[in-house]
Amino acid sequence: MSAPSVQVLIVGAGPTGLAAALFLTRLGIAVRIVDEATGPTTTSKALAVNPRSLELLEPTGVTARIRQEGQRIDTIRVAHEGRTTATFRPHWDRIAPGRPMTILPQARTEALLAEALADLGVRPEYGAGLTGLTQTADSVTAGLSTGETVSADLLLGADGAHSETRHALDLDFPGDASDEPWHLMDVAIEGAPLDEARIEFQRAGPLITLPFSGGVFRIIGFGADLLPRLPAGWKAGPILWQSDFKVSHRMVPTMAVGRVALAGDAAHIHSPIGGRGMNLGIEDAYVFAACTVDALNGDLSRIADYARVRHAVDAAWVNTSRGLTGFVASQSLPVRTLKRIAPSVAATIPGFIDQALKRGMGLDHPTAVR
Ligand SMILES: Cc1cc2nc3c(=O)[nH]c(=O)nc-3n(C[C@H](O)[C@H](O)[C@H](O)COP(=O)(O)OP(=O)(O)OC[C@H]3O[C@@H](n4cnc5c(N)ncnc54)[C@H](O)[C@@H]3O)c2cc1C
Repeated sequence: MSAPSVQVLIVGAGPTGLAAALFLTRLGIAVRIVDEATGPTTTSKALAVNPRSLELLEPTGVTARIRQEGQRIDTIRVAHEGRTTATFRPHWDRIAPGRPMTILPQARTEALLAEALADLGVRPEYGAGLTGLTQTADSVTAGLSTGETVSADLLLGADGAHSETRHALDLDFPGDASDEPWHLMDVAIEGAPLDEARIEFQRAGPLITLPFSGGVFRIIGFGADLLPRLPAGWKAGPILWQSDFKVSHRMVPTMAVGRVALAGDAAHIHSPIGGRGMNLGIEDAYVFAACTVDALNGDLSRIADYARVRHAVDAAWVNTSRGLTGFVASQSLPVRTLKRIAPSVAATIPGFIDQALKRGMGLDHPTAVR
């Protein structure tokens, strides 16, 4: 069974695919977005929506809704064995006016993207997984698990870490994985500040807490039980969701082959430290959409431009994330000493936190694509 052709077939309706569908549709490009899952995700997963993502999504109306529902972060506290070593207060009004880092469960971010997309008449088609693809100089042909064959001018693989699109392109996914299991849980907590992200270096390992709606917190760490290691005065209630994960850092050698491009976790994965995962995917989606307009007008080299520009940004973050995660996780004596001293020194450097956030949140490079 074969379907009428479409300009862009998007594989995967996670945040990357949904954002791509939204950006492309707003540019007047006809898309279909398919996902092998039976319906939208329900778990919180990535929480941080960064200023750069908020900027890119502003014209879609999604930013206003994320800001309305989400929790802004005004303080970043660093502690060592229970004692605060540094308190950073980002100047959002200077580095990203009106767009502070906002915490919202990924399922809600995805729902808001999907609602904005539905308002434009496009809905993800669930239960339709990519099973294979071929391409010629003029088009891409994709096979779906429904038995349908779809012909498209371009295909965007936003199908996550185990991307079928990446496999179909026969691309490696080189990198490394750590054996140390990290624990992650969403817990209702009383007595904790609602606008403060916190990292505490403990002998048992790092403990990160991040507030989201209504007194619910994400806790990430490794080592023994996390809840008994919360700060004094914090009272943990029910655990709403938990998961264990192992950190991998991987980057595809190229983000496009001919008429097929990759974006989001399909192209790069890294640890959640720094909260950039979902945000890099939204940035990829935006740049892909901008380049697609020219590609559909006959300049296919713009897809190669997309691949070049985003590979540089994404690979740089995968490397930064690897270093940052290694530092946070290391239990060696010299690094533990550094973790005790460095935050208080950094806090004395004017503008340190603003510069670090600019780098970590994608505000250190232009969105332009040439
Ligand atoms: C437990 C957990 C916690 C996390 N915590 C954080 C965090 O705190 N901070 C952070 O930044 N990131 C976090 N992440 C990572 C973050 O969730 C991802 O970076 C983000 O979801 C990437 O979005 P994506 O759209 O690229 O891929 P995904 O969200 O993985 O979406 C891919 C979509 O493609 C679909 N799909 C897969 N194969 C096919 C196929 N063959 N055909 C069609 N569809 C297909 C899937 O069903 C899925 O809907 C976490 C991830 C997990 C699993």
